[in-house]
Amino acid sequence: MDFTYPAKAESFRAEIRAWLEINLEPRFRASPGAHIDPDSEALALALEWNHRLADAGYGAIAWPPEWGGRNAGVMEQVVFVEEMHRVNAPSSLNPIGLSNIAPAIIQFGTPEQQQRFLPAMLRGDDIWCQGFSEPDAGSDLASLKTSAVLDGDTWIVNGQKTWNTFGHLANWCELLVRTDRNAAKHKGITCLLVDMALLGVTVRPLMTLTADNEFNEIFFDDVRVPVEMTLGPPNEGWRVAMTTLAYERGGVAKLHLGTRAKVAKLIDLARSTPGRSGDGVMADDPVMRQHLAQCYLEGELLKLVSQRAISGEIHGRPMGPEGSIAKLVWSETEQHITEVASDVLGPDALHGPWARDRAYARSFTIAGGTTQINKQIIAQRILGMPRDR
Ligand SMILES: Cc1cc2nc3c(=O)[nH]c(=O)nc-3n(C[C@H](O)[C@H](O)[C@H](O)COP(=O)(O)OP(=O)(O)OC[C@H]3O[C@@H](n4cnc5c(N)ncnc54)[C@H](O)[C@@H]3O)c2cc1C
Repeated sequence: MDFTYPAKAESFRAEIRAWLEINLEPRFRASPGAHIDPDSEALALALEWNHRLADAGYGAIAWPPEWGGRNAGVMEQVVFVEEMHRVNAPSSLNPIGLSNIAPAIIQFGTPEQQQRFLPAMLRGDDIWCQGFSEPDAGSDLASLKTSAVLDGDTWIVNGQKTWNTFGHLANWCELLVRTDRNAAKHKGITCLLVDMALLGVTVRPLMTLTADNEFNEIFFDDVRVPVEMTLGPPNEGWRVAMTTLAYERGGVAKLHLGTRAKVAKLIDLARSTPGRSGDGVMADDPVMRQHLAQCYLEGELLKLVSQRAISGEIHGRPMGPEGSIAKLVWSETEQHITEVASDVLGPDALHGPWARDRAYARSFTIAGGTTQINKQIIAQRILGMPRDR
């Protein structure tokens, strides 16, 4: 593994640091998150911050300059993430759009689609959601049933999607539909870019365990989507979807920053919470110290796994199964941190931000590929074990 910051990346660090000092006003600091309310002041502020980032060329630095990026290399991207994280700067309002959907539009989109969608996505003027999962198609995404039938120059879409993050805010959706029922499961799927304002689109919010609305169900009843909104060739939607997901996995490189900051917060919590016996603090307890050390080590392991993935990218190795290791270590560490925080706080863990974190962290077992599916990938592709029957 080779992990050094070239001079170009360090000079970019100085540039972005100076820019953040001037532009990151305190009013922008609250992170938008997916549970932001439509028409709220928080959304307006997040949009203003997003405009600032995009107008300065920092909306998506890895993109080509013609779409508002700067063709940034891997180490510049790492530096950008580190600097944004250092000052707790909110990220884009459109994380799914930028990291998952834009790469597919760049690779498969027509020039008209690229011109129409990429700049507006970069500025946050369009917010995107991903319409992949269905009530009976999650891990086994290829069994999706939402259908589209061609009627002249229009697709007629019918069906239901679920777990759509940002669905309540989005005005566009990257939608996977079945267009050939007779083809094999992974064939006969098409990717459509769907205007959420079309007649027949209904968004129904789903409340999470933390009482937030970031998920939604989306229903499609005879929705007429113009054929020029097909992304990639008809019946090749699986290939388009896999491009999207490959880019999603590429984001693992930055996971360790947030997790290690949480470990530091946990250690501070243990150092400032009075001990159960009324003597000293929770961090003095020998069993608690073992738990804290375990979380610290897991955070450092995640850093090494992330850096290995970055190093692989620098040396032109395709993003492989290490994405699954990082996802697994990240989700389990995040959950361990919140469990140990509950042990530190005792009954006080039932309310407040740590309580919310503990409930929210359960979703990490599922989001972005479930723990069981990632274990399958690690078993088969890294350990060379036989396929599960
Ligand atoms: C925070 C979050 C955000 C999300 N955002 C979106 C979004 O924006 N758009 C979208 O389309 N979807 C989204 N999803 C949905 C997500 O992609 C699915 O939940 C995920 O693919 C799992 O599908 P499922 O819920 O249908 O579970 P299932 O696939 O039904 O799995 C149920 C259980 O069975 C296990 N299992 C399934 N298959 C296997 C197997 N072959 N071997 C071993 N175990 C197996 C799973 O690990 C799991 O424990 C999101 C989910 C979360 C939690």
